[in-house]
Amino acid sequence: MIITDTHTHLYSEAFDDDRTQMIQRAIDSGVKRFFIPAIDSTYTTRMHQLKADFPEHMHLMMGLHPTHVKENYKEELKHVEQMLASNTYYAVGEIGIDLYWDKTTLPIQQDAFRHQINLAKQYKLPIVIHSRESFDEIFEILEDEQDDNLFGIFHCFTGSLEQAHRAISYNMKLGIGGVITFKNGKIDQFINQIDLKHIVLETDSPYLAPKPYRGKRNESAYIIKVLEKLSELYNLSIEEIAKVTTENSKTVFGI
Ligand SMILES: [Zn+2]
Repeated sequence: MIITDTHTHLYSEAFDDDRTQMIQRAIDSGVKRFFIPAIDSTYTTRMHQLKADFPEHMHLMMGLHPTHVKENYKEELKHVEQMLASNTYYAVGEIGIDLYWDKTTLPIQQDAFRHQINLAKQYKLPIVIHSRESFDEIFEILEDEQDDNLFGIFHCFTGSLEQAHRAISYNMKLGIGGVITFKNGKIDQFINQIDLKHIVLETDSPYLAPKPYRGKRNESAYIIKVLEKLSELYNLSIEEIAKVTTENSKTVFGI
């Protein structure tokens, strides 16, 4: 069984004390493919170190996270451009709009999102979208930018069934993680109405740990809890869910 964690911040400071053992635990439980979203330029060296330490398993993205879009964002976007031009990445991410932490930066978040969508198109890469309290703002931009070159993943999807269909209509897969195991997570109530071909798995480690680890540090090995829940909801074996979602991740990332 090969499980793919399409969104995990393994370079995070939260893993500084036990990173190697934590990654080995995931590999031993069948998680062989890790896709690593970027945040901002301060993490680039750590991401590349991770890739150097586990070259067969780690696949990096490049991008500027919406909560890190600040006054210096043009400089940060230059860094993203330079890195894309000189290294191999499998997506532009994570990018998008976050109105939970700071609403005042909305105009520059929109600008950075559009700019990075166009970089993704230029490099024929998928985008990995971070959306928090911002479905309308994200959909408005996807509506404008949609074409054959726009595709990717709606990371940590937590919307309604209608919003799920809309995201899929823009060529996005839905990234499903720990929230599916939460009592009040809501997506468990309709997810089996979405064809499994639109679903990829993720942890968003070290955040959003699934039940029974909710509130604790998350790690990629816990993705098995997400698999178990989806297996129950789709009435399919864990192996089948792992297989289909890994195939879906290959369709998106091209690897
Ligand atoms: Zn993330």
